[in-house]
Amino acid sequence: MQRSIPHADLRALPSVDDVLQREAARKWLEFLPRETVAGLVRAAIGRLRSSIIAGGGGETNPLHAVEGDIASNVNRLLRSTPRRVINASGVILHTNLGRAPLGARALRAISETAGKYCSLEYDIEHGKRGQRDAHCGELLETLLGRPAIAVNNNAAAIFLVLNELARDGHVIVSRGELVEIGDGFRIPDILGASQASLTEVGATNRTHLEDYRSAIGPGTKALLRIHTSNFRMVGFTGRPALGELAELARAASIPLVEDLGSGCMADLSPSGIVEEPLVTDSLEAGVNVVTFSGDKLLGGPQAGIIAGDADLVARFRRNPLFRALRVGKLTLAALNATLIDILTGNESGIPALRLARLSRDDLNVRAERFANRLTANAEFDADVVDGESVLGGGSTPMQGLPTALVALSPTAALSARDVERNLRASDPPVIVRIEKDRVLLDLRTVFETEEDDLFAALCSAAGKR
Ligand SMILES: *Cc1c(COP(=O)(O)O)cnc(C)c1O
Repeated sequence: MQRSIPHADLRALPSVDDVLQREAARKWLEFLPRETVAGLVRAAIGRLRSSIIAGGGGETNPLHAVEGDIASNVNRLLRSTPRRVINASGVILHTNLGRAPLGARALRAISETAGKYCSLEYDIEHGKRGQRDAHCGELLETLLGRPAIAVNNNAAAIFLVLNELARDGHVIVSRGELVEIGDGFRIPDILGASQASLTEVGATNRTHLEDYRSAIGPGTKALLRIHTSNFRMVGFTGRPALGELAELARAASIPLVEDLGSGCMADLSPSGIVEEPLVTDSLEAGVNVVTFSGDKLLGGPQAGIIAGDADLVARFRRNPLFRALRVGKLTLAALNATLIDILTGNESGIPALRLARLSRDDLNVRAERFANRLTANAEFDADVVDGESVLGGGSTPMQGLPTALVALSPTAALSARDVERNLRASDPPVIVRIEKDRVLLDLRTVFETEEDDLFAALCSAAGKR
């Protein structure tokens, strides 16, 4: 069916040249190439034309409408991103918010390394080509007691390990561990990409040592254990102890690989997080190869660490995929600095660990102070209530960390949704939780230096200021 097109509105559209001759365009041309600006103008006119044809009607001042559209695109293009956000959600290792914030030593290392030349692959002592993995290898080996290498992330680590050990062979995995970690990371998919086949054993809730034993055949290249980090099964469940599995693997001369996910290197029991296994526990139990992330409980940059038997780690290093999955100088500088903090026991220098260790009492003092400030200065009805922070990053699924939350009740004018949206639109954006139509602020993940910004964002979110 033919739709009648409002010709007058289409005729009123400006030409690209009309727009380019205006004052606003001259300003954009001072810092953007002419073709870029012309492209933005054409696209903006095109959008207005489509909206007219779709029946949206013309603008009273099409030139202004086009200029406004271009201006918001120019602003977006030139704003640095990813942007800093204030994380008031209480999720410490929030994957969508960049997981572990880096500590001072790591930041210093990055800025010193990145703005100048560095010894990334240069052996200063001998004046010749050096090894990229020398930078973290020795520290990791000192901390873990096994040789180790770093790749781009834990998914890459598992991919490389399985490709090297099990290409064209079988890997045995318990059905209770075939999990999706989030973001579409699934073990069967990684296995497929590594050209290894999956042999599933056991039942979803229980897998016995015997299940593994009877599945081992001539094509079996590895046993894979996965730390089921983001969900928990309760009830009639069970799986063999790591030590038993290691013994079975050793007797069959097949390597046992464990994907630890979070890779806890520091004992977190003082903060009540007792369920995260330590990397060294796995290695001591006889696991041949462990893999884990650099930006979860290690508290460093995005990376994947592979540690284990010397002969196996040497094979991973020689696999051509290691070159494809290697980390850059920024990562190595930050990882090296974070590992120095761990080795020297400077855990308060690693933000993720420091935040995990804050006690409910510490947080209660801050929450009370902040709630008082809000009720005194803005039209918020703020209380302090008990709640739980979350470690996140696929660790300790059900274990929360006791915290004190600032709870904002809705006002006559604004619902919790309104406040949440206004906070996201502030600069820097603030990310909060909503529960039962109340906005909840968890100061555990808000740095003390950010409290004034948070306060200002809340005042303007409430329509004050
Ligand atoms: C987080 C996680 C991964 C993925 O790690 P990335 O570093 O994000 O690639 C893999 N396995 C487990 C068990 C995890 O928890």
